[in-house]
Amino acid sequence: MPDIILTYAEAADVIQRHAKTLLTRKPTAEQAPLLASLRRVLAEPILADRDQPPFPRSTRDGFACRANDLSTAKPLRIIGQLKAGDVWKGVPLASGQAIEIMTGAPVPAGADCVVMIEHVKVRDDVLFIDPGRTLEPGENIVPSGAEARSGSIIAPAGTRLAASHIAAAAACGYATVIVYSRPRVAILATGDELVPVDHTPLTHQIRNSNSYSLAAQITLAGAQPVILPVAPDDETEIESAIGSASGCDLLLLSGGVSMGKYDFVEQALLALGAEFIFTGAKIQPGRPVVFGKLPQQYFFGLPGNPVSTMVTFLLFAQPLIAALGGEASGGPRFALARLAHDYRTKPGLTRFLPAHIDFTIDSPQATIIPWQGSGDLASTATANGFVVIPSNVDSLAAGDSVSILLT
Ligand code: AMP
Ligand code: MG
Repeated sequence: MPDIILTYAEAADVIQRHAKTLLTRKPTAEQAPLLASLRRVLAEPILADRDQPPFPRSTRDGFACRANDLSTAKPLRIIGQLKAGDVWKGVPLASGQAIEIMTGAPVPAGADCVVMIEHVKVRDDVLFIDPGRTLEPGENIVPSGAEARSGSIIAPAGTRLAASHIAAAAACGYATVIVYSRPRVAILATGDELVPVDHTPLTHQIRNSNSYSLAAQITLAGAQPVILPVAPDDETEIESAIGSASGCDLLLLSGGVSMGKYDFVEQALLALGAEFIFTGAKIQPGRPVVFGKLPQQYFFGLPGNPVSTMVTFLLFAQPLIAALGGEASGGPRFALARLAHDYRTKPGLTRFLPAHIDFTIDSPQATIIPWQGSGDLASTATANGFVVIPSNVDSLAAGDSVSILLT
């Protein structure tokens, strides 16, 4: 089997291309109660059921009046009051008149602005506008339909629903929404040294943490994890374990993809008719990552080192899962920060180093966490992001701008 080793950019591009193709096939859809749809993906758009706002809405507590009247500096006569939930039933407001109005109330016909309560004085039913205070027609009013027209798309199909979408859907009367079914993602950890989490390992054994990190990441990615029993480092056993994942939309294997004598995952996949799309990426951690397609589904062979597993999931598996779930623009997500300290490394690989990011409003700061390499879960557990070191960079200075891979 030929090695297909890509740069990070090439591998990311390959994933995006496959994700795009997946997006042309729509997953099955189901109805979900509005709140249960948080973080799920819309299968049908949310449409405005009426103009928003449905009436010219006052954005201030104050007095509805005519802008033209304010230029004369003459006091106005207050002819009534409107609170949110009221509607003006009298004749349209005329020149020289004002109606007291609260935020959210419909501006009465005849008025074209709202002067703020802070800018007036009231004596009995006479309104004195502060000297020199003038308004443009339309000030402090949102015209009906200015936010959205009846029937317009508030959120298109393919949107992963955030709190703001839930609010907008509620405003449009959606007690339920139509979302795509969550993809089912199988997790197959391999390794003779692995014991279940509730076992006491012998000195030379380790607990299977990757099935847990992957299940957690799959859940955060909006999919359903299906944890398969751990497979030993045996080609035939791995083959039959892979077969048991055939009902899933994607298969994630962990371990057994390096060059070691007992790394049998690629042979097992090959025997089952896998097409290999790439067999490594010039990244650290995660160099031996494998991506390909079995007759029944896509698969990733993720390196077993726990931090490699998590990083390669974020970089490659998560965007594919997003597409399998119908999400139009999945991850990975990057942001910029300033490096808090100098940094030196060897060029050649794109590095994703566990870091603590201080997400301040003006200048987020990133501190790379000292670690023992890609097996160091304890250090990585103190990180809240990964600093990206481009493959052609060998040194960075404190204050330099760096990309952050967000978790
Ligand atoms: P491998 O990719 O199989 O060569 O494994 C690389 C390293 O990751 C070894 O130290 C393994 O013990 C460790 N490892 C492999 N699978 C897991 C797992 N499921 N949970 C935790 N560590 C693992
Ligand atoms: Mg192994």
